[in-house]
Amino acid sequence: VTVLFHLGEMATATESLDESTFEVLGAEIGYKIEVVSPEDEDKELLESFGLNLEQEELDEDDDDLEIRPPVVTVMGHVDHGKTRLLDAIRNTTVIEGEAGGITQHIGAYQIWTEHEGHDRAITFIDTPGHEAFTAMRARGADVTDIAILVVAADDGIMPQTVEALNHAQAANVPIVVAVNKVDKPEANPAKVRQQLTEYGLVAEEYGGEVMFVDVSARQGTGIQDLLDAVLLTADAGLDLRANPNKEARGIAIEAKLDKGRGSVATVLVQGGTLRVGDPIVAGTAYGRVRAMIDEHGERVEEAAPSRPVQVQGLNSVPRAGDLFLVPEDDRTARQIAEKREAVERNAALAKARKRMSLEDFTKA
Ligand code: GDP
Ligand code: MG
Repeated sequence: VTVLFHLGEMATATESLDESTFEVLGAEIGYKIEVVSPEDEDKELLESFGLNLEQEELDEDDDDLEIRPPVVTVMGHVDHGKTRLLDAIRNTTVIEGEAGGITQHIGAYQIWTEHEGHDRAITFIDTPGHEAFTAMRARGADVTDIAILVVAADDGIMPQTVEALNHAQAANVPIVVAVNKVDKPEANPAKVRQQLTEYGLVAEEYGGEVMFVDVSARQGTGIQDLLDAVLLTADAGLDLRANPNKEARGIAIEAKLDKGRGSVATVLVQGGTLRVGDPIVAGTAYGRVRAMIDEHGERVEEAAPSRPVQVQGLNSVPRAGDLFLVPEDDRTARQIAEKREAVERNAALAKARKRMSLEDFTKA
């Protein structure tokens, strides 16, 4: 209080002050004040369990890395056809009545397509819209390798088109443009190309580097070309590889409480291989993988990088964007979850009080 008084700040010990005041105060009394982001705090928490995921990745031997499928998010203005396009992609890659068709909505799905003579997989995040994308990014989760920007050819660039492409560009995620609704008589796909050049998305046919594909999600045309464009974009500049031979890590895509099955969470494996029986922690949820189900409703025993699966066996429901990992044992899983819960409780308390008082500061 005295130091602050001399700095011209009248404060009582219980009064709340903002971050910058604490920084000034700290400097004045010889302490370096560090304002820690939730992500950094979680990193430190995991490090206290001997888990340093970033370092682990840096240390990975090139020989351990194997090619993994690209993970794609569909973005664009409302009503430009994101949902319809995701359906069309699902349908074109499934032969009618074929066993193993995509039957479950689990928040993500993987399809196989023939590309330049090879069978290739692509993973689609099935929750369209950049809200989900930003929500996950806000929690430090980078799930997307490539964004498909859907633009309706009868409508052209709209506010959310720009928002979506800004988000993708800020995240350094390459964009493939799906010019949709080309079946409509008033469709003007050339205009879409024209408009997007102003945002730095220059079509290949205009001398740029971005692939534009005309599609009709309604009629199912152009879908194969779109998938080819995604794979060409992946192969052109992205080094999509991961080590499947370690404990799994990844992201929770969506999760819910199911009456019969309890907590069911769709996770995207980003590294390692997830197996039935593994101990697992996702955000503040923990448990053991009791069963895994894929988008065909089939039980699977293991899931390799870029594979989305629905996991049963967590004790609670993780949030979209929560990191999941497979720790050494059940005990560690529980301890990590409990520590995170404590951190969240404290953060919630601090937030409820909005700011910190000098009293709290001296306790911290
Ligand atoms: P979202 O809001 O981006 O998910 O858009 P939807 O997929 O819900 O599509 C919005 C509307 O546009 C729906 O009525 C669709 O049937 C229609 N639509 C989507 N794709 C096409 C298309 O390729 N051609 C035509 N004519 N209509 C489409
Ligand atoms: Mg939709």
